[in-house]
Amino acid sequence: MDCIFCKIIAGQIPSDIVYTDDKVIAFRDISPISPVHLLIIPREHITSLNDITEHQTPLVGHLVQVAKQLAKQQGIATKGYRVVINCGPQGGQVVQHLHLHLLGGRELSGALG
Ligand code: AMP
Repeated sequence: MDCIFCKIIAGQIPSDIVYTDDKVIAFRDISPISPVHLLIIPREHITSLNDITEHQTPLVGHLVQVAKQLAKQQGIATKGYRVVINCGPQGGQVVQHLHLHLLGGRELSGALG
């Protein structure tokens, strides 16, 4: 499958990985928009939030739990951070593999888009 994030998971493309487990990996965004900008993705290829099935609900919970843990590990938990999932063209999704953005380390604008 021609998916850049699947290639990162397979180790075919280099990335700055900060967390892995049997279901999830997290790595630094290649074009960060904040001092902390991580991407948290499932190892399983899921195209977007639109494609989450009922039985994958625990996986989504796990992705959020990892985001929380990484926020603490990166030292941004207390000051605050943002977790974003872009979905589809109007939602700004560019990479067609479900991912959470973990953003922090600066004051983020109050407006969403
Ligand atoms: P989205 O617009 O929500 O699909 O976000 C995709 C994100 O993936 C963007 O923030 C890109 O900078 C990031 N990205 C694309 N290719 C890579 C890569 N090879 N390594 C790390 N981040 C990437």
